Amino acid sequence: MTGKSNSSPLDKLGLRSSLDCALHMPIRYEDETKLSTIAEAIGSFGGLTYQVQGYVIRQEVMFRPRRQLLVQIRDDDGQELFLRWLNFYPSQQKQMSMGTHLRVRGEVRDGYYGPEMVHPVVKAVTPDAPLPSTLTPTYSTVAGVSQTVIRKAIAKAIQDPDLQTSLKEFLPNELIAKTFPGLSIPTLISALHTLHQPSKSDDLESIQNRTHPAWRRVQLEELLAQQISLQQARQKRLKRQAVSMSSVPLEGGVLSQFIKSLPFDLTEAQKKVWQEIIQDLSRAYPMNRLLQGDVGSGKTVIAALAALHAIDHGCQAAIMAPTEILAEQHYRKLKLWLEPLGVKIAWLTGSLKVKEKREAQEQIASGSAHLVIGTHALIQEGVEFAKLGFAVIDEQHRFGVKQRLQLQQKIDDVEVHCHQLMMSATPIPRTLAMTFYADLEVSVIDELPPGRRPIVTKLVKNERRQEVVGGLLAELAKGRQVYWVCPLIEESDTLQLKTAVETHEALVRALPNVKIGLVHGRLKSQEKNSVMQSFVSGDIQILVATTVIEVGVDVPNASLMVIEHAERFGYAQLHQLRGRVGRGSAESVCILLYGQELSLAAKERLQTLKETQDGFLIAERDLALRGPGELLGSKQSGDAMLRFIDLQKEQWLIEKTQQLSVALLSNYPEIAEQHLSRWLGSRAEYLKA
Ligand code: ADP
Ligand code: MG
Repeated sequence: MTGKSNSSPLDKLGLRSSLDCALHMPIRYEDETKLSTIAEAIGSFGGLTYQVQGYVIRQEVMFRPRRQLLVQIRDDDGQELFLRWLNFYPSQQKQMSMGTHLRVRGEVRDGYYGPEMVHPVVKAVTPDAPLPSTLTPTYSTVAGVSQTVIRKAIAKAIQDPDLQTSLKEFLPNELIAKTFPGLSIPTLISALHTLHQPSKSDDLESIQNRTHPAWRRVQLEELLAQQISLQQARQKRLKRQAVSMSSVPLEGGVLSQFIKSLPFDLTEAQKKVWQEIIQDLSRAYPMNRLLQGDVGSGKTVIAALAALHAIDHGCQAAIMAPTEILAEQHYRKLKLWLEPLGVKIAWLTGSLKVKEKREAQEQIASGSAHLVIGTHALIQEGVEFAKLGFAVIDEQHRFGVKQRLQLQQKIDDVEVHCHQLMMSATPIPRTLAMTFYADLEVSVIDELPPGRRPIVTKLVKNERRQEVVGGLLAELAKGRQVYWVCPLIEESDTLQLKTAVETHEALVRALPNVKIGLVHGRLKSQEKNSVMQSFVSGDIQILVATTVIEVGVDVPNASLMVIEHAERFGYAQLHQLRGRVGRGSAESVCILLYGQELSLAAKERLQTLKETQDGFLIAERDLALRGPGELLGSKQSGDAMLRFIDLQKEQWLIEKTQQLSVALLSNYPEIAEQHLSRWLGSRAEYLKA
């Protein structure tokens, strides 16, 4: 290594500056501060790690049962211990030549030759070489970067004078003390020292489980930056201008007509969220609201109400969905509901022919289209709205971060901003809502339309699929329809397609008198639509599908779903898929077929799905399992995620930090700014997406 801490191997870990290094936290620690005698080590019950030392009295390459290196050491008390390596380099043999004094660290076990350590950590040192006074950190690393290299680099980085300057304290101490009474939170620099090199007297347990005050400091710093950034975004939003609509439906407008024509009454929950939304729309700044409601809770009609309200106020409205199938569903449904009222709807997706696309763009630009429905083609170049006043983003977490930023930019470009309503069936757990979604108002539809019956979920071994087919026929005989979902094959689209095609063929062969359709992602959108339409109209009785049907598809007559190899799907996917049934008044069943070997995690997942239909509970489990990155659909921005805090466990810390950021922003705005740029730099943008 050269003197520079940012030499190339560390680049592989993304550690380019002293600060990067200082924030690369140990994953565990080793205690090399104590030395035991060999007698103590072999007298224990085994399985414990000891550090002992002694002279090499034997070194041999043995061939029984396979080639291995055997070394024996003896300490001052005359006690002996074997060290054994199953693979080794000549350099190791040299390092441990006869008579060398070794300090070794490892687990003691009973071996073939006697007490031994297998693959211990070895250092050749003199018997009186000082022991470290701090615990030795172990870091996560990648091939080609050894612990030694990384330890040295980080030890150096935290002593770097530049780091001391750049991490100079500026958060007002009394503010921190007031926010965290009774917890003596160290300075950032001192916290980093503690975490990288805890001394013997530090409480190792709380350092390991990340509850030590030093950890609190680091967690607090990062969370604070995030909270500041979100609050700034909020303040910016409140200063922006949007069309202020009336807080009640306009008399004689399309909204009023629509409400009268609705074939059902809104549920109490729908009425409540609609009130929240119409209040938001009456403000002069843009709404930023998330509408959460479990699958089937009736979010679409709420989106329609708000869109019509905007149209009544001379604005255009847009509904954007993450997949073509879902957008198409909205389009059909809303066309049916709204065209009779004279609302002009434009349809725009990536798969339109050039000419159709141009026509749609013209309708959007001239304002002749009142409502625009489509995929993210809506936010692509060439699409200019005459007067966009309200936008719905359905299943918003399914859009990538890039698309969300694109949308944000599109909205930021104009003078009068549009009101935004995000919709999601994947409930966002409270901790996440408080962190990543802090600039969102949240409305929740917490009841399903009347008459729905809970879905019965059954776990069935794949071997018993024959019985499943029997149950399926019974369902068809009642005039019901069935989804048959093909296994997810992560690695390969082609393979998934193949399975779908084969499953379809097998079912067609087995059930010659049943009308069976197939839908998958590779179909042209026209073909996809025509299959979906046949299923909607009942011409197809069984729809074999890949996960393209995961979100939003709405066929109330479908009352049975079979999911093959359910163990390959995640919580959210299964919940979403299952939500395709149970939409009508018939009792619905979801059968989760599973293969032979279930991992523990898969078993727990399927069991949870069987036991509950509560989307919030399922989302919590999902969060615990996968971490927030995936749940938010922003895997790509992994490095913008909170690195140091377990959101599930630390809700109180989020609350405290929120208070702190409010206090900081109002009393010390420059410090807030300083803090933000230290922690986020260019990542700030991602956090808002
Ligand atoms: P999601 O929230 O999953 O998007 P949808 O908006 O697709 O749910 O609604 C599911 C089904 O329930 C649709 O067929 C819709 O027309 C119907 N629906 C919505 N609200 C009500 C209601 N208040 N009463 C009866 N049916 C309703
Ligand atoms: Mg929906």
